[in-house]
Amino acid sequence: MDTRVIQLLMELRKQGISDTRVLAALERVPREQFVAEQFLKHAYDNIALPITQGQTISQPYVVAYMTEALQLGDRMKVLEIGTGCGYQAAVLACVATEVYSIERLRGLHDKARDNLRSLRLANLHLLFGDGMAGYAKGAPYAGIIAAAGGDAVPQAWIEQLAVGGRIIAPTVMPDGAQALVVLEKTAREMKQSVLEPVHFVPLKSGIA
Ligand code: SAH
Repeated sequence: MDTRVIQLLMELRKQGISDTRVLAALERVPREQFVAEQFLKHAYDNIALPITQGQTISQPYVVAYMTEALQLGDRMKVLEIGTGCGYQAAVLACVATEVYSIERLRGLHDKARDNLRSLRLANLHLLFGDGMAGYAKGAPYAGIIAAAGGDAVPQAWIEQLAVGGRIIAPTVMPDGAQALVVLEKTAREMKQSVLEPVHFVPLKSGIA
């Protein structure tokens, strides 16, 4: 294996990622397939990198942390909002039974399809559309992950979440800073907790 991958996995463990399925997924998905040519030498650095259309490929630590935070059991369905280059979607497809990933920018949706082709992840479904509305046809989901941050979690996501499921979404806090929020659906209520501060691109409505 590429020593850079081994290094990265060691770093993620040091940063507290312990779910072996998540670590195995990051080992399996070649991040170099998702970054632009000029950033290839940084493909396994633990940093976010620019992709096209002003968007970013998330930091490996953040991808691992959010995937772990879903606390997926076996046979679980997941929805991702913001496919971008498709890296997080590929990681999710290694740990979930079925993954639906929506992107609102046509150019990126097409790019993700190209990036992912050789991985042959038959359980990963790429969708073009506005993820603010979720994807009702695939619901209910055991987990919903957003790769873009808004002021509040859209009601549609809450409706499409299974009881016992979790939403992990970057959300703007009252102080204006973004943090990762976890929403857990119980039979009676939504329980919210705030994890770490993050910097995601904004969640936007409509397609382009
Ligand atoms: N998941 C990516 C990160 C993508 S960046 C990774 O693996 O690295 C976030 C993406 O969210 C951008 O491509 C942006 O276009 C998209 N996005 C923002 N608002 C959206 C919406 N309402 N529906 C779908 N995608 C959205």
